[in-house]
Amino acid sequence: MNDVTPIALVTGAIGGIGSITCKKLIDEGYLVVAICRQKPAEVLSQWLNDYDIDKDSVKFAFMDVTNNEECSVELEKLHKQLGHFDVLVNNAGITRDTQFKKMDYQQWRDVIDTNLNSLFNISQPVFNAMCERGYGRIINISSINGLKGQFGQTNYAAAKAGMIGFTKALAMEGARKGVTVNAVAPGYTKTPMVEELKPAVIESITAQIPVNRLAEPKEVAAAVAYLAGKDSGFITGETLSINGGQYMH
Ligand code: NDP
Repeated sequence: MNDVTPIALVTGAIGGIGSITCKKLIDEGYLVVAICRQKPAEVLSQWLNDYDIDKDSVKFAFMDVTNNEECSVELEKLHKQLGHFDVLVNNAGITRDTQFKKMDYQQWRDVIDTNLNSLFNISQPVFNAMCERGYGRIINISSINGLKGQFGQTNYAAAKAGMIGFTKALAMEGARKGVTVNAVAPGYTKTPMVEELKPAVIESITAQIPVNRLAEPKEVAAAVAYLAGKDSGFITGETLSINGGQYMH
């Protein structure tokens, strides 16, 4: 690998875990490509302010991760502009929780498209470029609920478990090319995704966590940064749980 500024792509970049992950990677010297859906300029400059991020250390790239054509075109453009990709964090995700008997097909599709099919759309162009260069780190943000299942989350658990299978299979394909592929499986983390739950639900979740609190986004970001580093080259196909002991597999 050349000794040039390393480049990290992060999807769901301006969400809870995504923002802190961008900040952490920037602090570690990466130029971060913050991938998000189109947002007004004021929202993006507020985000830079909120997270104390220098505008020169980040490049916004607008993509809907469910749109295969848009992702292929935009990622190819980015690769031409930037020349190389070192790290990809597949972090964009949504929930559409409801019991399976009441789930409609749209709720199923939206979650599978955003959390799982996005891995195809985003990873393929990036993985191919990394393999050609002989170096890369891909980190997929799965979930505790992809490992243990969760009432009301058949769609989400299926997508998050699928990410783990994808991680292991792609790790095999990348291993001889210098490209590692790992997953991080956070437990419940203090972000808008969890903060929208009712306080009583958050309390009952916390009661099931031996460490007796939710995860901080920076704890997830630290694991991502570790797996993104050059020294993690012998770790691949792994899923790292960050769940306060809630589920030990
Ligand atoms: P947030 O809701 O804060 O962030 C999710 C991000 O994904 C948003 O920035 C959102 O962008 C983006 N996104 C959603 N759909 C699309 C799309 N179609 N195209 C592009 N971007 C999209 O969630 P978290 O930060 O909490 O979650 C981040 C990841 O971590 C997710 O994959 C989640 O499943 C996972 N996770 C979270 C846990 C938690 O407790 N918070 C626990 C375990 C895993 P936009 O602003 O445009 O909507």
